[in-house]
Amino acid sequence: MQAISDRRAFIFGLAGVLVSARRLAQGSPSTEVRELRIDAQRLQQMLEELSTFGRPVGGSFVDGVSRVAYSDADLAGRNYVLELLRAADLEPRIDAAGNIRATRAGSVPALKPIVFGSHIDSVPSGGNFDGDLGSLAAIEVERTLHDHGIRTRHPLEVTIWSNEEGGPVGSEIAVEGPRTGDLERVFNGTAMREGLVRIGGDPARLETARLSPGSMHCYLELHIEQGGTLEKAGVPIGIVDGIVSIDEYAVEIRGAANHAGTTPMPERHNALLAAAKLIEAVQEEVTRSPGRQVGTVGQLTVTPNAPNVVPGFVRHTIEFRDLSESTLAHLGAAIRERAAQIARETGTEITIKLVVHDPPALAAPEIQRRIEAAAASLELRAVHLPSGAGHDAQFLARIAPMGMIFVPSVGGVSHSPKEFTHWSDCANGANVLLQTILRVDAA
Ligand SMILES: [Zn+2]
Repeated sequence: MQAISDRRAFIFGLAGVLVSARRLAQGSPSTEVRELRIDAQRLQQMLEELSTFGRPVGGSFVDGVSRVAYSDADLAGRNYVLELLRAADLEPRIDAAGNIRATRAGSVPALKPIVFGSHIDSVPSGGNFDGDLGSLAAIEVERTLHDHGIRTRHPLEVTIWSNEEGGPVGSEIAVEGPRTGDLERVFNGTAMREGLVRIGGDPARLETARLSPGSMHCYLELHIEQGGTLEKAGVPIGIVDGIVSIDEYAVEIRGAANHAGTTPMPERHNALLAAAKLIEAVQEEVTRSPGRQVGTVGQLTVTPNAPNVVPGFVRHTIEFRDLSESTLAHLGAAIRERAAQIARETGTEITIKLVVHDPPALAAPEIQRRIEAAAASLELRAVHLPSGAGHDAQFLARIAPMGMIFVPSVGGVSHSPKEFTHWSDCANGANVLLQTILRVDAA
């Protein structure tokens, strides 16, 4: 029985190869392929099953998940994903950086793989959609193609990146190698070196996990928006223009600490007053012109931080994010000017140092056009938007044409048990991923 059904599967598979290879080669998917849809119920079921690994004791789906990388829950979730991949007739492997990868051969041997996936680790007390949706939708795409006996021209490679929330770590090692001191870093109580071994990686052979530029045809990732833009606009699909650039500044304000009762107001050099004015200046400069740029002062230390002392010293951060590096440079220049003026007004000395500059990771225009076409073919409205959060895709963009698909986050909430994306939006996103892959493959 086994042999016969195997042979039949082989013959059907071969017929599928010939049909799809011929039709896909003409530049646009066949009607049969264009009408292909993922199984929305199966996707939901996988998301619900994955949520049980790391669920609070006695909780349910709505209580979210703590599946922090290298934990028992992470290990159990990864085993679940490995089983799903095997059930889809794939042979998953774990690379030295702990990334789970599974490749389905294409019909044209010379072509490079279309890679897609996301991550399944979470922040402590996180939600059930960040990373999980993109990972399980990738597997659902594989299952759908397998069920319909459709062979693409390019190899298809599902990748579940390790420890996204801690870096990202797995995707960074694969693209750039480990950062100095990375392996000695303690993450969630586990040294990274031991954590990698725990999940099946090999810290001594990290270079074997490296992906070189041009080694893949493109990289695609479906993800929840983690912001409220799509929900507010009532649009089901977001096409990511790119992942924003980040400039982080360290600010030091030197005044003079003095007695809060005996120092007259005109004679004070109040560092915290200067900081307050500078924080307001950040708000004003960022909102001065239209655009999606954002600016945040999120960390501040006051010295001596006592109720009866005029603050003598303040250290705080300023972070600007935008797709355009020149917008960030303008904001940096504007804030330095404002700081000089505030220092004069308050009798303080202000220094501003750029400590982090992350360049933007732009999505490839040709991939964005394929996502547009895929959404249009599904009669789903789509808008372009930047990603304000970091993703594995930001590293992949350095070595391959990258594209990201966003679906709405209810209330814009993420990194919280309250994170939710309507099941219909999850299915829409997975269908856009499927149709984008088929369009990229046919091009
Ligand atoms: Zn994520």
